[in-house]
Amino acid sequence: MARLVLKFGGTSVADMERIRNVALRVKREVDAGHEVAVVVSAMSGVTNQLVAWVTEACRLHDAREYDTVVASGEQVTAGLLALALQNLGVNARSWLGWQIPVMTDDTHGKARIEDIDTRVLIERMAQGQVAVVAGFQGLGSDKRITTLGRGGSDTSAVALAAALKAERCDIFTDVDGVYTTDPRIVAKARKLDKITYEEMLEMASQGAKVLQTRSVELAMKYRVRTQVLSSFEDKPGTLVVDEDEIVEKEIVSGIAYNRDEAKITLQSVADRPGVAAAIFGPLTDAAINVDMIVQNVSAEGHTDITFTVAKADLDRAVAALRGKQKELGFKALLPDPGVVKVSVIGVGMRSHAGVAQLMFKTLAEKGINIQVITTSEIKVSVLVAEEYTELALRALHTAYGLDAA
Ligand code: ADP
Ligand code: ASP
Ligand code: MG
Repeated sequence: MARLVLKFGGTSVADMERIRNVALRVKREVDAGHEVAVVVSAMSGVTNQLVAWVTEACRLHDAREYDTVVASGEQVTAGLLALALQNLGVNARSWLGWQIPVMTDDTHGKARIEDIDTRVLIERMAQGQVAVVAGFQGLGSDKRITTLGRGGSDTSAVALAAALKAERCDIFTDVDGVYTTDPRIVAKARKLDKITYEEMLEMASQGAKVLQTRSVELAMKYRVRTQVLSSFEDKPGTLVVDEDEIVEKEIVSGIAYNRDEAKITLQSVADRPGVAAAIFGPLTDAAINVDMIVQNVSAEGHTDITFTVAKADLDRAVAALRGKQKELGFKALLPDPGVVKVSVIGVGMRSHAGVAQLMFKTLAEKGINIQVITTSEIKVSVLVAEEYTELALRALHTAYGLDAA
């Protein structure tokens, strides 16, 4: 007998028929004698609709009310799955974030889980009851509902698995595992049997939506055995593991892309000490994360600074900076949402030179201009015009020898 956490994403609970299928899948584990907690997402498309309504109600909205609205999708699926399980004769009960509670910090819209009180869940599970937990949501210290950022049910699941000391956390989704790149864009993408925590973390944080970044951080920290697998087919998925469990190490193991960033260029900023702090200070104050940054060489004491923020934060970032135009002394502010960040990732980069060069050469051959570059120990990222997403991914996938046979 094992304790398992099973997580079902939006497409897996997209309608009643799929929810019934999920119930059957869960029942199989219960019948095998396992203690089961299930984490569910909202039905696919629902969270997007809720976000759209919030934005329609108020463009620069209050994050607490955003959370009140967008957390509701998971309430519906948790209740429906509990009912579908009961209908199969399985003892099941739904749990919302605040009922457990899943305590988070107060960063509404992208809160972090701080603590999960598992006492009641453990008690109920020991009595044979399946806990159906609404993913994506928690309770802030301000006693208000919080959400964990888009894709956050993955994090709910891994955090719950860690807190319950579960044997495994299975993330059921609409692909049968983690691929070398998004299989919906590159038909020749290859499924990986295993991927290291570190590479998965980098893939996720560079945009591979198959797992939310924070969920991989938690899996790595608490050594949660996490598997990504299909909710529609019965076959093994991809296991996220320690580096020493991987026999054949590739130099580049995956390519990720992120269309959710936007570029901002500040033209002709005074090039003096403290200017970067003055620019990024107001963004930090508004809880806006900056990702890539490039500063040009200065001419006559002035320089251009380009950086990226989440597309969702673009309006707020522009507003925060325009408010300081006099103080910062820039001539123009150019926002550009039409960009994509493409990243090649692999632990093998630590010991092999030339990975970045191959990326630049491949993109040059396709006539794709690179706007910003950043690197870390195990990844190289470039920012290019969004229209080149597919072309860049396919060309790089072939160049690094990742294409399926
Ligand atoms: P869920 O609703 O189940 O959470 P998501 O849409 O969040 O599902 O994540 C699954 C999607 O992630 C896939 O449909 C696929 O298009 C995308 N994806 C991006 N990169 C990868 C990758 N490297 N491997 C597998 N899937 C990926
Ligand atoms: N429903 C939320 C979203 O669409 C959380 C999730 O699916 O993981 O972002
Ligand atoms: Mg997801």
